[in-house]
Amino acid sequence: MTFTIDMLPANEGDALWIEYGSDPVRRILIDCGRKTAYRAVADRLDRTDDARFELFVLSHVDADHIAGAVPLLQDARFGPDKVGDIWFNGWRHLNGQHKDAEEGEVRILGARQGEFFAAVLRDREYPWNEAFDGHPVILNDTGDLPSFTMEGGMVLTLLGPTKDKLDDMRDRWRDDLEGMDDDEEFDPGDWEAALRLLEDDRAHAADIPVLGGAPKGQLSVDEVFDLAEEPFDPDHSEPNGSSISFLAEFGGKSVLFAADAHSPQLARSIRRLMEQRGQGGKLKIDAFKMSHHGSARNNSHELLKMFDCRRFLVSTNGSRHHHPDPAAIARVVTLNSEPVELHFNYRSDESALWDDNALKDAHGFETFYPTGVNGLRVQI
Ligand SMILES: [Zn+2]
Repeated sequence: MTFTIDMLPANEGDALWIEYGSDPVRRILIDCGRKTAYRAVADRLDRTDDARFELFVLSHVDADHIAGAVPLLQDARFGPDKVGDIWFNGWRHLNGQHKDAEEGEVRILGARQGEFFAAVLRDREYPWNEAFDGHPVILNDTGDLPSFTMEGGMVLTLLGPTKDKLDDMRDRWRDDLEGMDDDEEFDPGDWEAALRLLEDDRAHAADIPVLGGAPKGQLSVDEVFDLAEEPFDPDHSEPNGSSISFLAEFGGKSVLFAADAHSPQLARSIRRLMEQRGQGGKLKIDAFKMSHHGSARNNSHELLKMFDCRRFLVSTNGSRHHHPDPAAIARVVTLNSEPVELHFNYRSDESALWDDNALKDAHGFETFYPTGVNGLRVQI
């Protein structure tokens, strides 16, 4: 049974090309990073016969997930006939009360790209949240977690976002759009205005990764223990909190795709899932796509302790935010008594820190890095 995940080169973001089954091979795409990731996906489309996706999940509107998705939707090699459904929570899926933005809040303008994405979805008539009858991709506060069986037998069980996380995102979305220059301003949900702007928007397609500094030197075995004990400081970013996260199960194997979700919300959903399935102990999974590119603020001790898992996937080149955080990886390698595998889709200063035999021997883990330029394939 094929079940592979290609973490394509997406700079500091995600672009996950998943294949499962055989004859035909089925595919799921999660996010499309920045422009480099779009090129990697487009290149892969070129090299794949009859490339079709059962599902494209655009987890949330941060640039490192959506910037490459906007050109992808407009690419002639992609199209509505190439994808069974697209899961994406756009403006029309957000509900809640408007609150004033916090003073001095940094605008990420992901909402603008969210509007562009939605505009192209409408313009090219892509399928959109069809599994949810066009409604938001969202968890109810009570009852069973929604589960979907894809063509070919892959089962996806939704773990996020919850309604309160989408409510928080609504305010952020409006504020982001209001922060634009006058000639670029438009109302949330005005997809025709968004489309007009997108047609002239060349700057938006630019991809200039800003490479940052790396952790200096090496870590000692004891420093890893110290890092692992650093207290958890949770992420409060609304876009990250609005991430679509899910458990993907196929052929007796399972992978948890966390996008950039908040740890406490994910942990609650996992508890619900275990309860719903009448399971005790830990959630057995074959791989965990670490939340938020291995940020220490999105991979709590509480969350990591819930898994019986040997494989941890980190998608980022370390630019901008220097992910993965040493503390997050330190938690992974110290909280597991069995040896674990760390899979990185870039050899960056941040990921190469763990390619250290003394640390591997002492803490019991292995590392995997790409050998070429096409990211890393993980066989589940
Ligand atoms: Zn991200």
